[in-house]
Amino acid sequence: MDIISLPPCSRQHLHHHHSDNLTMNVCTGNGLLSDQQTSTTALATFLATSPIKTDQEILENSMLEDDPNGNTETSKPNASPRWGPQHKGAQELANLYSPGKRAQEIICVSSCIALMVVNFVFILKHFHLERLSIAFFAAFCGIITADFGSGMVHWAADTWGSVELPVLGKNFLRPFREHHIDPTSITRHDFIETNGDNFMVAIPILGVLFYNFLTKTPENIQQDFGWISYLFLCSIFVAMTNQIHKWSHTYCALPKWVLFLQNCHIILPRRHHRIHHVAPHETYFCITTGWLNWPLEKLRFWSSMEVAIELITGCKPRDDDLKWAKK
Ligand SMILES: [Zn+2]
Ligand SMILES: [Zn+2]
Repeated sequence: MDIISLPPCSRQHLHHHHSDNLTMNVCTGNGLLSDQQTSTTALATFLATSPIKTDQEILENSMLEDDPNGNTETSKPNASPRWGPQHKGAQELANLYSPGKRAQEIICVSSCIALMVVNFVFILKHFHLERLSIAFFAAFCGIITADFGSGMVHWAADTWGSVELPVLGKNFLRPFREHHIDPTSITRHDFIETNGDNFMVAIPILGVLFYNFLTKTPENIQQDFGWISYLFLCSIFVAMTNQIHKWSHTYCALPKWVLFLQNCHIILPRRHHRIHHVAPHETYFCITTGWLNWPLEKLRFWSSMEVAIELITGCKPRDDDLKWAKK
């Protein structure tokens, strides 16, 4: 049974599609399962009995996506405002978004889009059908790499450092802190604010690709076509990560094709990402496809790294995050 309430628009959507399967994904936190509708009952029982977060934990320790954010029509007027735009810390963080930061984002978004287009043209120009399977496999690996990268960066930014750090804090850690105490603020950010930083990360990868196309012979490009596909798809998914993340917080009026990609778990599904938003935000950091979240949690990947870093440096994980949450 599904005890987490969904806003009306998504509930309706859930009804039209394989609802049983989606419900089980929530219980287990394993969105990958949606591809394997025929998976055995034994496996399902095992996964259901070892959930990453129970429904109760999600309900008690995360913000309902239909909080009073103007995101959906339903709201809970009497709910205690632990999260949301009225939170003092969230307001303070939102006010730290500066014109200089905005300029950096505009430059990054425009140059990244230009690089994507020229690289795509080069790829089309050099594409041969016999390279299709290698390109496909390489692209798949590129997407996995992007998902892992999103997890590493997100984990590092959420867990360590502080908004007070010079340059880095105000410009690159601030959005992570704001996002935890007002998760749906991202749905009110425009394209530039949402994507500026991720497009910036993709620029060096696309730059290397572009340089290769300019300097290598056609024969060498054919030889390296696997690498090229890998880097291209990796950079596209790195660039798109926060847009995908924004969609995972949007509960109304999502385009049908986005819903389709979410339901097929080709991009981060909404209910999968809710597991990260359960305080204290210590798991499910991957936000591109989310494919690696379940295996990394089962391997205790993040918690082991935190234990090691705390031992070495004495820094406590999520100290700054907790400080902002308490404002
Ligand atoms: Zn986070
Ligand atoms: Zn989020």
